[in-house]
Amino acid sequence: MKSIKGILFIVASMLVTILVWLSSGSTQFLIPGLALTTLSLTFILATRLPFLEEWFNGLENMYSAHKFTAFLSILLLLFHNFSMGGLWGSRLVAQLGNIGIYIFISIVLVAYLGQYLQYEAWRWIHRVVYLAYIFGLLHVYMMMSQRLFGLNLLSFLVGIYAILGLIAGFYIIFLYQQISFTHLGKIIGIKHLNHDTTELEIKLSKPFRYKYGQFAFLKIFQEGFEQAPHPFSISGGNGKTLYFTIKNSGDHTKNIYENLKVGSKVTVDRAYGHMLLEQGQDQQIWIAGGIGITPFISYIRENPFLTKSVRLYYSYRGKENAVYLNLLHAYAEKNPNFDLRLIDSTQDDYLNFENEDIPDQTNIYMCGPLVMMEAISKNIKEKNPKAELIYEGFKFK
Ligand SMILES: Cc1cc2nc3c(=O)[nH]c(=O)nc-3n(C[C@H](O)[C@H](O)[C@H](O)COP(=O)(O)OP(=O)(O)OC[C@H]3O[C@@H](n4cnc5c(N)ncnc54)[C@H](O)[C@@H]3O)c2cc1C
Repeated sequence: MKSIKGILFIVASMLVTILVWLSSGSTQFLIPGLALTTLSLTFILATRLPFLEEWFNGLENMYSAHKFTAFLSILLLLFHNFSMGGLWGSRLVAQLGNIGIYIFISIVLVAYLGQYLQYEAWRWIHRVVYLAYIFGLLHVYMMMSQRLFGLNLLSFLVGIYAILGLIAGFYIIFLYQQISFTHLGKIIGIKHLNHDTTELEIKLSKPFRYKYGQFAFLKIFQEGFEQAPHPFSISGGNGKTLYFTIKNSGDHTKNIYENLKVGSKVTVDRAYGHMLLEQGQDQQIWIAGGIGITPFISYIRENPFLTKSVRLYYSYRGKENAVYLNLLHAYAEKNPNFDLRLIDSTQDDYLNFENEDIPDQTNIYMCGPLVMMEAISKNIKEKNPKAELIYEGFKFK
């Protein structure tokens, strides 16, 4: 329940909305009124603002809340549409509302089908929802102009959420990529770690602050590369130097492996993520699956002498797919408090904690494929419900 502040923010917004609409005497518009608030929240939760990330304990939880409010908005709008008899009347105001609802529903359906679309296409279609929101607001303000332009609690509430929703949507669609990527840089080193994984060394124009275990969005400015920023865990670096370690998982990452050149310009925004290895207890367990080793490498690379007691389980499918094995072995040799456990799933059983010891005062950090993390977290919770488990998925949608 670490996202308690975020949950409270959503619940409080909805309760206040319900109370204000009920006390305004316009109870017949409670449902669409609530939809206006949940729509506004949907845009607010798409911004990657640091204080919201903190309230929700990570971007992943924020995106889950964003999906929830979008889905709730659909239900409320459908209910409103049916209860008004699906008005396609001649009045412009009613038509604006209908157009808004239909665009919104189509987009949210497309967003849920997102896994079958190219990510870039999915992002662009997603943005049309802003248009639907504007249609919806026009509809509401034209319908209720007398109430909503007057000086009363209802106009204040609807106005505040409308302004916040509009600003949040405008920011994430038009401004975020222009103003948030303030760390300009250049690729100064490219290393192929195996047949599909690349390590990038980047020199930035100003120091980049991050904590071991965090990630950042990286934009590459080289002809033939997608403009969209992609999230990657930081695999090391300090001051103006930053490392990312990237595995081919699709067009963009394959392009990085095959075509990225030293000297190409890049930008990064800021560090995100709640897997803060340094802030954990003195006793830690790290679990990495495949390319999920990257957030742990930042700690290892930047802290030659380990002050905590760490047990690392690194699971991979065949040695040819593993990375940084030499670095990990050398680290274990130098640091007796670093207990390295390698699991090659082509030879050993899948990692499981039934026979492993998990002391109470332990922070467990995990990063890897979703299926592996789900199975292991269930396993760990059964074994020791008191152990604190913190994990980062490599997928948002
Ligand atoms: C918090 C986090 C940390 C990550 N760290 C690493 C890392 O250290 N090393 C590594 O190799 N991979 C990492 N990834 C995964 C990496 O971001 C994706 O593999 C990469 O973006 C895929 O892009 P693609 O075009 O090559 O593949 P595609 O086939 O286009 O995409 C594969 C999947 O990656 C995701 N994705 C694609 N584009 C984006 C985007 N612009 N923004 C967000 N998600 C996107 C989508 O879920 C998509 O379904 C991380 C992901 C997240 C969310």
